[in-house]
Amino acid sequence: MKSLNADELLNVWEQGLNQPLLQRALMLLAAAFPEIKSDSLAKLSIGQRDLLLMQLRERLFGQLLLNRSACPECDEQLEWQNNLSDFMVPNGKHASDQHFELEKDAYQLQFRLPNSLDIAAVVNSKSALSTQQQLLSHCVLEVKREGSDYEPDHLPETIVQALMGRIEQLDPQADIRINLACPECSHEWTVLFDIACFLWEEVNGWAERTLQTVYKLAVGYGWSEQEILSLSPVRRQLYLGMMGA
Ligand SMILES: [Zn+2]
Repeated sequence: MKSLNADELLNVWEQGLNQPLLQRALMLLAAAFPEIKSDSLAKLSIGQRDLLLMQLRERLFGQLLLNRSACPECDEQLEWQNNLSDFMVPNGKHASDQHFELEKDAYQLQFRLPNSLDIAAVVNSKSALSTQQQLLSHCVLEVKREGSDYEPDHLPETIVQALMGRIEQLDPQADIRINLACPECSHEWTVLFDIACFLWEEVNGWAERTLQTVYKLAVGYGWSEQEILSLSPVRRQLYLGMMGA
């Protein structure tokens, strides 16, 4: 992993603005992990991808996560914090080209874990099949029923659910859930922590603040964007303070 400077991170942010979240996550990783080819990044299992995103987040913004959620019962705003390391699952990620087997009822399946390409295909699809069935149509490699070949699209719902459960079990890093309790009404609920979404929002907030700082310093001192971005964040803040801004 390389450290992204302010200019590099702003470039990724700008290019990602009109892209879907899935693509934004891959663009951040491609910039930060130039040693991994971009088609290899797209083929990482979601858990592998998320672990890299967490490592990048730690490098960019540190370990501490601050977040807000509204209580679904009484709408109380809850602030919660965690360390990123709380969400890193040791040995929790398999590669998406690794093959697994599931045997249930009369069915024997070979499957692999979903990757970003599978999810992109499902998001962009106009198929009448359910999202889960479509995802599985990418990930199921072979189905046999009582020893004979069987069409994966026709799997019964019990098998679809068993397979989805198995995929979640095999890729726990892709499915981080946080238990919250409301201090007002004691309601307890669970939220999904999606590092791709969380990190992109942070990068977005950071980019907007950085561009405001560039604007103020450019107006105040007549420096170019490049000159301002090449300053450390500490110096930018100090110069901003000297302007009384
Ligand atoms: Zn509440």
